[in-house]
Amino acid sequence: MTTELAARVRRIKPSPTLAVTARAGELRAAGKDVLSLAAGEPDFDTPDHIKEAAKRAIAEGRTKYTPVGGTATLKKAIALKHERDNGFHFKPSQIIASTGGKQACYNICQALLDDGDEVVIPAPYWVSYPAMALLAGGVPVSIDTTAETRFKITPDQLERAITPRTKLLFLNSPSNPSGMVYTKAELEALAGVLLKHPRVFIATDDMYEHILWAKEPFADIVNACPQLADRTVVISAVSKTYAMTGWRLGWACGPEAVIKAMSAIQSQSTSNPNSIAQAAAEAALTGDQSCVGTMVAEFHKRHDRVVAGLNKIPGVRCLSGDGTFYAFPNVEGLIQHLGVQDDVELATKLLDDALVALVPGTAFGAPGHLRLSFATSQKVLDGALERIAKLAN
Ligand code: GLU
Repeated sequence: MTTELAARVRRIKPSPTLAVTARAGELRAAGKDVLSLAAGEPDFDTPDHIKEAAKRAIAEGRTKYTPVGGTATLKKAIALKHERDNGFHFKPSQIIASTGGKQACYNICQALLDDGDEVVIPAPYWVSYPAMALLAGGVPVSIDTTAETRFKITPDQLERAITPRTKLLFLNSPSNPSGMVYTKAELEALAGVLLKHPRVFIATDDMYEHILWAKEPFADIVNACPQLADRTVVISAVSKTYAMTGWRLGWACGPEAVIKAMSAIQSQSTSNPNSIAQAAAEAALTGDQSCVGTMVAEFHKRHDRVVAGLNKIPGVRCLSGDGTFYAFPNVEGLIQHLGVQDDVELATKLLDDALVALVPGTAFGAPGHLRLSFATSQKVLDGALERIAKLAN
């Protein structure tokens, strides 16, 4: 019997970040000494006070359904976070908690896109934006960037990418995978273009807001241009900031009508995010924030060491990033030197021959690059760099 799957499934591939991570796990389970720099997942444990809040929630029997978009107290904590960190004022009706920031992004596409609507996505991009657009019947339109602009789009490029069919723009700063950050002035310039196109909604994925060491404080497109607030959805999560990837708790805040539509979609698909994770996220957002600074200081240290290490390898060029826990080196020289076809083949070779797992740039819309996650111990990082250098020499 042949299984006839829906056409939408044929438009996408499984997430490459998760696929490489799974492959590394399988090899490790088979006894291979694989060093994985694949998934963007902090190696730190979730801080104790957050775990304690989850244990309390279990003990108190908070194990039932909650409102679809999250408990009133979690929404209050999310609102407080945005007042404290971003100067935004969101009412409960403007907030929806979801199963990770990933579901928030997915829900936005489902809520806004009709067949054929275009979604502008600056490249390099997080692997799931184009797939989510496709699953909603949308058409991803990527804007290529280079190291010359630090992988950031210019207002001219944005203007050229927008057509009468454009419905949504994804922004992600600090960026996964490039680690680059838009300054407030750069966002103001992009906002100048967006103001001319009132049909275009903006999804600003601020997941890495706190994992930042740029000179300027964090700003997103709404900070740069408050006029865009009524067509911008702000996305974030506890995953990266508080080392809580497995808890799956993220959220979106924005115009009531969009949030209401996202809640309807969520109510017909997954219902509320996990009730215990909601209690944990509440503790993360309202509790002592010093754990964040401690982790970020460590990420910054690793960044400096990884970028320096990469730039010593022949055929590899890597810019210093402004934040996140990713390095995104250009490896065109190494591809040529090793006689492999492209970054995909290079990543395969690195896994097979050097037992180093990382994600090829092609997955992020930027061939000729690799993404290394340095959210792993210094020992693993040093070992991986050594193995890559050995293969290159
Ligand atoms: N966002 C992380 C990454 O880029 C986790 C995996 C995923 O969901 O893509 O590695």
